[in-house]
Order: sequence, then C-alpha cells, then structure tokens
Amino acid sequence: MDTYICVTCGTQYPPSAAPPAHCPICEDDRQYIGHSGQRWTTPAELRETHRTTIADVDPGVVGIATEPQFAIGQQAHLIQTPAGNALWDCISLLDDETVAAVRQLGGIAAIAISHPHFFSAMVDWAHAFDAPVYLHADHASWVMRPDAAVRYWDGDTREILPGVTAIRCGGHFPGSTALYWADGAGGRGALFTGDTVQVVSDRRWVSFIYSYPNQIPLDAAAVRRIVAALEPYPFDRLYGGWRDRLVAGDAKAAVRRSAERYIAHLQGDAAASA
Ligand SMILES: [Zn+2]
Ligand SMILES: [Zn+2]
Repeated sequence: MDTYICVTCGTQYPPSAAPPAHCPICEDDRQYIGHSGQRWTTPAELRETHRTTIADVDPGVVGIATEPQFAIGQQAHLIQTPAGNALWDCISLLDDETVAAVRQLGGIAAIAISHPHFFSAMVDWAHAFDAPVYLHADHASWVMRPDAAVRYWDGDTREILPGVTAIRCGGHFPGSTALYWADGAGGRGALFTGDTVQVVSDRRWVSFIYSYPNQIPLDAAAVRRIVAALEPYPFDRLYGGWRDRLVAGDAKAAVRRSAERYIAHLQGDAAASA
C-alpha cells in the first residue's frame, strides 16, 4: 500500500489502499484547499518529479529543501552538534540520495518540528535515521500519521540534545515551537523558528501570524506570549522556515522591536509611534 501526501500542504498520511477523503490540515482556517480541489501524490511520484537540495547555511547549519518547490516550500535545517545532529522541521520528500547525503553529514539523532504544516514526511525521516520526533503535546490532534517514533512533550521547554532546546511559543498553533541552539552563531546563540516567528522580506524584522495564506493576524496577547517565551534565551541569529529567510545579527532585538511595531498596528497607534 502507498502512503499519500497532500499536494497543497505536503502532509503524509498512513499507508492506505486509496487516497484519504480529506486533508484536515488544509481544511483548517490557517490553510486552504488547492484551487483544483484536494489532490494527492505519493512518495514514488514525488521522487520522480523532485529532488532534495542540501546546502551549507552557516558553520554547523545545513539547509535541506525540495526542488522545484513543493507544497508549502519550507526548508528544514540540520544542526550539527558534538552530541549528534538535530533535524529541525521536515520536508515531504525523502529518497536514497538524501539518506546517503545526510548520513555523510553524521545522520540524525533527534527530530523536532515547529508545527503541523511542517510535519510532512516526518515518520519516513524518523524511520530512515532511527531518530525520535519531538512534538509538543498540543500538536497531538494534528498528527495525521501516528507512529511510535513520535514523542510528545508537555510544558514550556524540552531539551532534545545537549544545548538544543525546543521552546513552546504558541501563536500560529497553540503548540507552535521554536528551537534554541546555545552554541549557534559562534556561541552567541541561534534560534530556529519555522513560521512561529516569521522572517519577513525586510530581514531586519519578523512577524507573527495566525494564517499566512489567509492573512489573519495574531492578537496582541499571543504576540506578547511569544516574546516572553523567548526572553530567557540569548540569540544573535534567527533562522526562519524558508531558504534565505534569516535575521543575520542582533536577532533578539529584532524580535522585540517587531513585536512592538506589530502590536502598535493592531492597536491603531502605529502612526503615533512611527
Ligand atoms: Zn493538506
Ligand atoms: Zn504554518
């Protein structure tokens, strides 16, 4: 039996004789059904039409993405530490070449994923590298392909490898998570955010959104909770969920001032503060 992957969001479903009737991830108001209706592909089809790109981003940080862009188009990151590699976020395609290339880089000791839009083929990746997938427990009802490799964590933080900590920020989803790497950015600290904190086109700034495709903002309290969750952690660099989306320096200040700007717009006093 094949597994089926939603063409719009990239989520993989359990093996089945026929494609699933629905994609709950896309039916949610943070997503949308593709303009030609619900469509599915399979890992075999995807391997014929797409390939994986693996590129150094920074010392100890490797970007892993799909070319041409597929579904939401995110970039996963491999974070190389002395205790093993962490895979942050995930993609829908996994082929033999990718497995070999990632093994060459030291394999994967632990996987953590920010939120359901990037669950993609996490179970295939977990099985290929014999790695656990750490997800915040608030995401449990959004896991479309349950598996023994998935380990739910509760509360506000979970260290997945020494010096690598998942932080529950909420916002986009109640369990939306960022990943903190204390030794990142040359020891100044690095934060990986997916779209929990979104790096915008002006890369000195970030944003905070409930639905990106449907342009629904977060409320001020949710934005303040995200900033508060990150407050204990010093970080200089912030890696967003797509290629070339990164705040190159002084990233914690960028998050703070972006939150202030965002809340000023929500509250109607942006002109006064400009
Ligand atoms: Zn979908
Ligand atoms: Zn998302």
